[in-house]
Amino acid sequence: MIQNVYMPARCIVGENAVMNNSSVFSAYGKNCLIVTGKSGAEKSGALGDVEAALEKEGIGWAVFNEIGENPLISACRKAGEAARQAKADFIVGIGGGSALDSVKAIAIYASNPELAPIDIYKRVYANPPLPVILVGTTAGTGSEVTGVAVLTNDETGLKKSIKGEDCYGKVSFCDYRYTASMPYSVTVSTALDAFEHAIEGFFTEKCVGVELLFAEKCIPVIYKCLKKLAEDKTVDPALRKPLYEGSIYAGLIINTCGTAFPHPVGYVLTENYGVPHGTACAAFFAPFIDRCARFSPEKTKKFEEMTESIDEAKKVIASLVDLKGIKISPELAHKYSERWAAAIPGNFASSPGSLTREEAEKMLTEI
Ligand code: NAP
Ligand code: FE
Repeated sequence: MIQNVYMPARCIVGENAVMNNSSVFSAYGKNCLIVTGKSGAEKSGALGDVEAALEKEGIGWAVFNEIGENPLISACRKAGEAARQAKADFIVGIGGGSALDSVKAIAIYASNPELAPIDIYKRVYANPPLPVILVGTTAGTGSEVTGVAVLTNDETGLKKSIKGEDCYGKVSFCDYRYTASMPYSVTVSTALDAFEHAIEGFFTEKCVGVELLFAEKCIPVIYKCLKKLAEDKTVDPALRKPLYEGSIYAGLIINTCGTAFPHPVGYVLTENYGVPHGTACAAFFAPFIDRCARFSPEKTKKFEEMTESIDEAKKVIASLVDLKGIKISPELAHKYSERWAAAIPGNFASSPGSLTREEAEKMLTEI
């Protein structure tokens, strides 16, 4: 198989990456818009570091802090307008996947005022997006290294990705210390997301060569951290660095391999029941790994070598997934399944054994 690996994100990795490399910002202009959620960027210390770096370089900035979880297209468009008002030459996203994904869309809206909100999915616009700089504060999505942004359509409440060469950050600052302020619950849900990326990508046929090396590197590390999170019920600070690094490797895997069925099936739990993204995907770990054992036995053996027996892994993941008693009837599951029109030839087909719509509906009723 020919592998088409594309990973153009420039990552500056390590403690004090932002402050020690403030000159990097100057390469992109004299004014910027910083985009964050409500409070995570500040609590993490990343916002303070970025402001100090910009100050040092004599760069002006404005802050837009209205990005919520699972970013809405309307918020991205509004921030695009804020970028134009601030005469921003570039955008800095600080936060978890929500803030980082949002800036990839904001950069497009900022330079294309005529673009109708929903037309961002058409991926056709007159002007190139503004340059984007990413500063991650969660250890989950790997958005720092992916050419993907997951956006929520205000009208339908459904999540859909945009992807492409214009969706990469120019530079990503990766300093694991910014993840230290995440509470236990966010640490768990984001770590589950990183784990799902690594294993869903690992079990696709595209995971060969360099992607396989990434999987071998991060699956044991993330799994060990998840097991410790499950045992301790609190976050040992020593987990922050391996979890963050693991999430970046996992991002590199999905960037080439994509995700499998737990992602689109999990979206239903986020869209309709407010379950955090990583927890929602990991809710389908057990049926996923069972299918892998059936249709991809060699890789399952390798998965067990990297972690533990699949029975033990299922117990560990289940102990971290709290769905607060959600129950979905067959009728509702059938209604939700209309959303998977694109996933059936996509993520479902790339999953071991190629999942059908009916099988996915059944999974929803069995959570
Ligand atoms: P998130 O939605 O970005 O953040 C979750 C929560 O954690 C927010 O309340 C946030 O607060 C808070 N937070 C973030 N960093 C913190 C810190 N250091 N200290 C304290 N609180 C902090 O979560 P995420 O899981 O990283 O991102 C999920 C989004 O990414 C979803 O929309 C998902 O679909 C998408 N995603 C993207 C990719 C990709 O390749 N691009 C892959 C998988 C998933 P504030 O809101 O106040 O900041
Ligand atoms: Fe994800």
